[in-house]
Amino acid sequence: MDAGIIVVGGGPVGSALGLMLPDATVLEAATFPRDKPCGEGLMPAGAALLAAVGVDLAAEGFPLLNGVRYTLPDGATARASFAHGSGFGVRRTRLDALLAERAQVSCGVRVNAVRSLSDRVEVDTSQGTLVGSALVAADGIRSSIARMMGWWRPSQGRARYGLVGHLAAEQQSQDVEVGLLGSVETYMAPVGPGEVLLAVLSARGELRSPGLTGEESYRAIVERAHPGLAAAPLLGPLRGAGPFNLRPSRVAQGRVFLAGDAAGFLDPLTGDAMSAGLAQARALATLLSGDLGSAAPRYRRWVEGQWRRRSFVASLARSLSDSGRLSRRALAGARRRPEALQALLSVNDGSRTLRSVSLRDWAALLGVARG
Ligand SMILES: Cc1cc2nc3c(=O)[nH]c(=O)nc-3n(C[C@H](O)[C@H](O)[C@H](O)COP(=O)(O)OP(=O)(O)OC[C@H]3O[C@@H](n4cnc5c(N)ncnc54)[C@H](O)[C@@H]3O)c2cc1C
Repeated sequence: MDAGIIVVGGGPVGSALGLMLPDATVLEAATFPRDKPCGEGLMPAGAALLAAVGVDLAAEGFPLLNGVRYTLPDGATARASFAHGSGFGVRRTRLDALLAERAQVSCGVRVNAVRSLSDRVEVDTSQGTLVGSALVAADGIRSSIARMMGWWRPSQGRARYGLVGHLAAEQQSQDVEVGLLGSVETYMAPVGPGEVLLAVLSARGELRSPGLTGEESYRAIVERAHPGLAAAPLLGPLRGAGPFNLRPSRVAQGRVFLAGDAAGFLDPLTGDAMSAGLAQARALATLLSGDLGSAAPRYRRWVEGQWRRRSFVASLARSLSDSGRLSRRALAGARRRPEALQALLSVNDGSRTLRSVSLRDWAALLGVARG
């Protein structure tokens, strides 16, 4: 059977690709709704890419996000609005089910083996063998397809982890609220009526306080960042994730392509990963509709440029978070010159290039100028 372009994984990136490519067959091992540990903050560029394929998140009732606020333990804050459009708090049980339904994802189908041949790909699934012209693996951070291809590599550098929970509370702001607490960060976003997402991020040892259970440790961090949420009931289980900072040795060869977290995952702190994966889907939809022979090297170059920008922003965010002195200076600079923080948010979601940020903005963000 000719399955056209075979997409493995019906998360946001695989499903979006299914919507962008009319001849795609999207295969998903799970059935929806299924949950996934995530900060659930979709940046405006990602929301715009979904709007372009007919998914109107505002009309679907997802809460709007207008900007990001950073807060230090002493209460110092800096905030910027998104320059263009809105982001959304996307409860993953809802978003992924919605996208999978729109993209007519084939659920409950696991891909077990892939053969990349000169003129086609062959895929063994839990329901038989399929033949297609190309394969895109959007099968997540531990991509089984990247492993089958010999491209998967373990986490590099300092290991970081996350613990994600949902609390019964009404968030007052329409912002992603990032708490920089020193060795731990918190990330909060409204994801539905009376429901907020609260993720805590750090090295594994820092997420668990001596003598406390995982849940007690999580609650202690939440209370430090948001005392008002001390008594808010947890809705469902906490979910752990990590280690982060993974990048496969390649993202494309011949007729096989990786997208979304399968193509590399930096750190949740920047909240840009779904938008980056959706941008990869958009780039692939264009490349796979043209000359397949040149698609792999062109995609590799495109992803390399995207990765450079993203890793710069992720390193900057982690350095600021690690150093109380730098983060105080950066927040003071961003308060004096909010447009500098706004420019950085646009770079983060891919709607601006690094080069377009002015020296005055960089100087403000590094706390070396009086805006
Ligand atoms: C703690 C944390 C916080 C985060 N916060 C944010 C945030 O605020 N904003 C943001 O944009 N991103 C955030 N992210 C990242 C975001 O969750 C991912 O970028 C996103 O889920 C990637 O989507 P995907 O479609 O690539 O993969 P996934 O959503 O992981 O989907 C992969 C799918 O592939 C399926 N699959 C796997 N193997 C097979 C197989 N062999 N056959 C068939 N199906 C298969 C799985 O069942 C799964 O449904 C966060 C991540 C973490 C861990």
